Amino acid sequence: MSLSLGIIGLPNVGKSTLFNALLKRQVALAANYPFATIDPNIGVVEVPDSRLQALVDVVKKEYGRVGDREVPEKVIPAVVKFYDIAGLVAGAHKGEGLGNQFLSHIREVDAIVHVLRDFTDENVVRAGATHPDVDKQIVETELILADLQTIEKRVQGSRKEKSDLIILDKVKSALDQGKLVNDLNLTKDETEFVSQLNLLSVKPVLYVINTDEDKLHNEAVTNSKYIYISAKLEEELAGFTDGEKTQYLEDLGIAESGLDKIIRHGYAVLGLQTYFTAGPKEVRAWTIKRGSKAPQAAGVIHTDFERGFIRAEIIGWQELTELGSWKIAKDKGKIRSEGKEYVMQDGDVVEFRFNV
Ligand code: GDP
Repeated sequence: MSLSLGIIGLPNVGKSTLFNALLKRQVALAANYPFATIDPNIGVVEVPDSRLQALVDVVKKEYGRVGDREVPEKVIPAVVKFYDIAGLVAGAHKGEGLGNQFLSHIREVDAIVHVLRDFTDENVVRAGATHPDVDKQIVETELILADLQTIEKRVQGSRKEKSDLIILDKVKSALDQGKLVNDLNLTKDETEFVSQLNLLSVKPVLYVINTDEDKLHNEAVTNSKYIYISAKLEEELAGFTDGEKTQYLEDLGIAESGLDKIIRHGYAVLGLQTYFTAGPKEVRAWTIKRGSKAPQAAGVIHTDFERGFIRAEIIGWQELTELGSWKIAKDKGKIRSEGKEYVMQDGDVVEFRFNV
């Protein structure tokens, strides 16, 4: 499982600038990620996670070298796939601009990164109005109109259960009022039905306000849908080494790069979390849905692991790091043996026992 985010927004808001910055971070991924592509509109970037390095240190200490090889042999962070979805203009739902092509790309992603322009630059023509709120509405209206078309087709299509028609009607009237499906409070059953309609406005949205450098500030909360970045700054950062980047951000009084912020908030908005496996061969971060139970988490590694799940040996990453090694943790009885009903916690380090 990897998180996929589609970058959308009106022309000239800074989408390409942001996307190019993240393409520069796409380093030597292909070998470890079979799905990494050469599609110019898809960029795969690693999820920054300092816990991974802490676990690498634990493994190094525990195993030293194996023969003439360094351990761990591989370090594999989680990744996020960004799609550059250009071409949205008013009228897209009727096929204006790249129209339907644009809309079908949105259907493929888990969540939308909606870039809004708030930077001032006389030299860059504004495609939309003069205020991010208005631009936001122009784009969202297109999503809503496209969804209304989808719903209408469904209503007219083959005979429906009465209960289906009631849900379709509820969604339709919300869309008619200019609401995104994502903002409705749907029951579990309704959500299930709606999810197979393949709507656009049902996708979670992160609003990325592309603003001037001096208007940036640090957001501590991860559940905000609005984040402030400077695409121009991201472009500069992309050319720096990690050390230079940290220093530069520090000088500006900014805790985190905009891309890191987008990824972190993307995880939060989609309700994702990470667990780790850590051995001499590989230290790796895995992405799961919050609330996943141990067998589901195992299934992310391999479906056989889920089917043949017996139990999981687990310790939190912090406790493991403090204790220093898996063996010490084991000797002290700190490795827990968890069964099928265990709900995974963010940062768990796991060894699965399974039967295939
Ligand atoms: P897109 O059409 O949304 O992909 O927009 P672009 O990324 O191509 O940006 C349009 C223009 O705005 C380019 O000339 C960029 O250099 C400029 N631009 C993008 N982001 C910023 C920013 O944060 N500040 C300033 N001043 N200019 C920017």
